Amino acid sequence: MDLGIKDKVALVAASSKGLGREVACALAQEGVRLSLCARTQSTLHETAEHIRSRYGVEVMETVCDLTDEHQVATLVKGTLESFGTVDILVSNAGGPPPGKFLEHDVDAWRRAVDLNFMSAVFLCQQVVPVMQKNKWGRIVLMTSISVRQPLDGLILSNSVRAATTGLARTLANELGEDNILVHTVCPGFFLTDRVKSLAERLAEANGTTPEDMEKKWASQNVLGRVADPSEFGPLVAFLCSERASYMTGSAIAIDGGLYKGLL
Ligand code: NAD
Repeated sequence: MDLGIKDKVALVAASSKGLGREVACALAQEGVRLSLCARTQSTLHETAEHIRSRYGVEVMETVCDLTDEHQVATLVKGTLESFGTVDILVSNAGGPPPGKFLEHDVDAWRRAVDLNFMSAVFLCQQVVPVMQKNKWGRIVLMTSISVRQPLDGLILSNSVRAATTGLARTLANELGEDNILVHTVCPGFFLTDRVKSLAERLAEANGTTPEDMEKKWASQNVLGRVADPSEFGPLVAFLCSERASYMTGSAIAIDGGLYKGLL
């Protein structure tokens, strides 16, 4: 299926590694021009070079800390200067640390809000006016399956993702008249660097091994396995496409059936 987004411009946040990188690759496969960002120049450059050589699309790289509104403004300004527009925004960032309620101090809560909520606010503030002018836009905000079903030992993520879900659904309501379609995607367990490190930290806290943590997560979903990161990008590419033109306001689980409710 041709997704109909060749030559569109996508800003994919936190895209040097993990799920963000997979989204960037899936969009590049459709001929989308990319503005990538992360905090570490070396891994960002490695990803950008990989995408240029494999897919032959234009890729811009910007070192950016997404918790800093000024750096996000500079990122979007640079994208507009290079490409003239932003058609697609995929808001992503790292994840907050694991732990139970009393293990986190006030600063940890503030950092989680900044990383997983305010970063999305900053990105949307910058790109929505551009998309409104174009009367075309796709915005996908990364959350987690924890918005449907809280995950043990991840109270920061479980809490802050709910705010991001509220933001996305309200933006979908407000921006439909401008043909800007907004979704969240809710991953279960994909074996990225973050999930490997979560397995290590939770294993230590629970007196078990990372392998046992992964087995436990695998046994909780109906497919009986954790996912390969490459299984993530195509869903987001579809949501960002011309083919998804009558979908907005969805929170889409991609979790191997981990969440077992009806809706
Ligand atoms: P990852 O740690 O593998 O990759 C995170 C990316 O974010 C990296 O490119 C890193 O450089 C970048 N990053 C981190 N903090 C940043 C900042 N302040 N500014 C700019 N870039 C920053 O993580 P991942 O597994 O790909 O997860 C991506 C997001 O999805 C996280 O928020 C995570 O909590 C969430 N999530 C992941 C899973 C999963 O199974 N992997 C499941 C549910 C939710």
